[in-house]
Amino acid sequence: MATERTLSIIKPDATRRNLTGAINKKFEESGLRIVAQKRIKLTLEQAQQFYFVHKDRPFYNDLCSFMTSGPVVVQVLEGDNAVSKNRDIMGATNPEDAEAGTVRKDFAESLEANSVHGSDSQENAFIEISYFFSATDIVG
Ligand code: ADP
Ligand code: MG
Repeated sequence: MATERTLSIIKPDATRRNLTGAINKKFEESGLRIVAQKRIKLTLEQAQQFYFVHKDRPFYNDLCSFMTSGPVVVQVLEGDNAVSKNRDIMGATNPEDAEAGTVRKDFAESLEANSVHGSDSQENAFIEISYFFSATDIVG
C-alpha cells in the first residue's frame, strides 16, 4: 500500500462543540497520523477560493459563510491510502447516508454542517495541502 497524505478540515460545527479530540481519535485509531495541524479562522476569501470548484452550486454562498462562522482545524493526515481511508472514516457527505461509526454519522449536524472536509483525490490532496501548509510545516 502506498503512503499518502491528505488534507482534513475539522469544520466550525465541530470545533464549536469541542469535538476536535474525538475526531482526531477516530483518525489515529484508524492508523492515520496527524503530521501537521493548526487552528485558524478562514477569511471569506479563503473559503471561497478553497471551495471554488463548487462556485456554481446553489449551496456555495451558504457553505462559505458557514466555513467562516468559527474556527477550523486544518490538518495533514498521513498513512496507507490516506485519501480514501480518510473518506471512509468521514462517511458520506450527507450524514443521513453515512455508515455507523463514521465521523459524520456520529457528529454531523446537517448536510452542510457535516463536521469534516477531506480531499477526494491524491491530486486535490496535494493542491489543498499546499493551500494551508508549507513543506517545513509537515513533520512525518
Ligand atoms: P464532501 O465534503 O463529502 O467532499 P462535496 O465536495 O460534494 O462533499 O461538498 C462540499 C461540502 O459542501 C460538503 O461537505 C457540505 O458541507 C456542503 N454541501 C454539499 N452538498 C450540499 C447541499 N446539497 N446542501 C448544502 N450543503 C452541501
Ligand atoms: Mg468534496
